[in-house]
Formats: sequence, structure tokens, C-alpha cells
Amino acid sequence: MGVVLDGKQYARTVRQGLRERIARIRHQPGCHDWQPGLATILVGEDPASHAYISTKEKACREVGIVPFGHRLPPTASVDEVGALIGRLNARPDVHGILLQLPLPDHLEPAALIEAIQPDKDVDGLHSVNQGRLLLGQAGLRPCTPLGVIHLIGQSGMAIEGKRAVVVGRSNLVGKPLALLLLERNATVTTCHSHTANIADHIRQADLVVTAVGQPNAIKGDWIKHGACVIDVGISRSPDGSLRGDVEFAIAKDRAAYISPVPGGVGPLTVAMLLANTVQTAEEQTLTPAPPPEGEGWKGIEVL
Ligand code: NAP
Repeated sequence: MGVVLDGKQYARTVRQGLRERIARIRHQPGCHDWQPGLATILVGEDPASHAYISTKEKACREVGIVPFGHRLPPTASVDEVGALIGRLNARPDVHGILLQLPLPDHLEPAALIEAIQPDKDVDGLHSVNQGRLLLGQAGLRPCTPLGVIHLIGQSGMAIEGKRAVVVGRSNLVGKPLALLLLERNATVTTCHSHTANIADHIRQADLVVTAVGQPNAIKGDWIKHGACVIDVGISRSPDGSLRGDVEFAIAKDRAAYISPVPGGVGPLTVAMLLANTVQTAEEQTLTPAPPPEGEGWKGIEVL
């Protein structure tokens, strides 16, 4: 029977590390009142989104990040949300901006995400940060894929050289995750709703990460013996309980490591949001000044 990866416990460890990191910075000369700030924007009345935002704001307070909550009515226009983002971009005490998704139907998320300053984009969804990931450059990485990488790390299984299958290709989870795994030298296959014979891909995978959102989309007997299975999917059963994508009871007897739903990736997504916020606060307030003009860009040498 596989080891069930305890995302809740691991997220606690990450949060404790962040608390200590903030405390260390405050001990530095002139930094005793240093505190990272995260602005959250919630548009509308969706109960699940309200619950997610409250969890994130509570987690902020626990580690020493100041949450600045902004609630807008479901009728808020694109100009109102955009103007709020503009004001938050300009505030020096706000180091990260989180626009809670999904948005009401009349608002286009891509345009509003683009309005967030890339160095405050703690969700890692701005095209600049997604582009940096694609190019292998430093930048803010999306929280859920980053949480998945941490959870795999917790298993102790090396990613390098493994056959990884990612099911799902959204900009939020599947695509950035495939890039993060590729960056760590896995051989990555991305599956989606048009993939033929998805079971054949999964049967060969040492590592399966699934982000579909349909219960039992991934059958337990497709899992290779000894594989690591990370279930990102969340859907609600008729009885109100949360379910993942994987047929857990069968899969856990075949996998070496498996993440549960709830209690797997979810808590790490929140922990990674906090980590990204601390990182942006450090970069915006503690990073040494750039070199004086003339000492930076040297131009391209003509051969
Ligand atoms: P999404 O944008 O709806 O993407 C779902 C992906 O699944 C799409 O790429 C889709 O393929 C693919 N798909 C759908 N049916 C399939 C099937 N039968 N076989 C194979 N692939 C199939 O969703 P998302 O935003 O990526 O989120 C995915 C899931 O993760 C959701 O349940 C969401 O709630 C959950 N989630 C959890 C967390 C967390 O913190 N735990 C965070 C984010 C998301 P096409 O591209 O071909 O349509």
C-alpha cells in the first residue's frame, strides 16, 4: 500500500519556515517593522471563492503577512477592477496581488491578470511570468504547480529521468506544471480531453499528476505499481464532500506515493502563495540597488 502524502502537515512546515524567515529579516538593522503585504481581490458572491479567500487571508496573518482584503460586488465593471489593480500596483506596502478566480462571466480574467504588475503577480499567471517559466528564467511560478513539485519532493522520489504524465493543460495548472517537470529533467507527456487511449500513457508513467476536475477520471488500475500519484482535481460529491480525479482506494494499493483530496495539493497551494509573497516583498524592499548606469547592459558583441 502506498504512502499517503500529507499535504496539510507539509504545508505547516512550509509556513513555519516562512514565519522564521520573516522573523530573521526583522532582526536585521532597520527592518524591525518589515512586513510583506498581500492584496486579495474577490469579485462577486461565490461561496467557494469566499471560503478560499478567507483561508488565504488567515494563513497570511499566521505567518506575519498583512492581508489587504478587497471585496467587490458581482456587478463590478472591468474598469472598476482594473482601477483597483492600478492603485494596488502603486502601493509600496502591497508586495503581492491576488485576483481570486473564477470571475463573474462579464469579466475577462486574462485582461485583468495582465493589469497586475508582473513583480506583484504572486499567482504567477501574468504572461511575463509564464513566459519566463517557458524560457527557464527566474520569475514567479504559479502556486498550484509549485505546490505539486514540493509534494513530490516530500515523497523523496527524484523527478529527474522519470516518465511523467500530466493530465490537464490549463494555464493555471497543467501547462506550467509540465514545464516545471521538464525543467527538472522528467520526460513529460501532457494529456487532455482529446488524448486517445489515455490509460496507455498513464500505465507507463512513474509520475502521474492529474488536474481534470472529474471524479474517477483516472481509474485506479491504470496506475503503474510503484508510481507517484498527485491528484490536483477537486469536485464536490452530492453529499458535499470533496473528491479528486483519481480512483483513490484502488490507486493507493498500486502507487508508492499518493496524495489525497482533500489534504494533498490544496494546503500547499496556499503555502506557495505565502512563499511567493515573501519572495516579492524581499525583492521589492531588500534587493540591493542595480549597478550604476553604464555598468549593467554591455550590448551584444558583434562577431
Ligand atoms: P480546467 O481549466 O477546467 O482544465 C481541465 C483540464 O482537464 C483541461 O485541459 C481538459 O482538457 C482536461 N480534461 C477534461 N476532461 C478530461 C478527460 N476526461 N480526460 C483527460 N483530460 C481531461 O481546470 P484547471 O483550472 O486546470 O483545474 C483542474 C482541477 O484542479 C479542477 O478540479 C480544479 O478545481 C482543481 N484545482 C485545484 C487546486 C488546488 O489547490 N488543489 C488549484 C487549482 C485547480 P481540454 O484542455 O482538452 O479541455
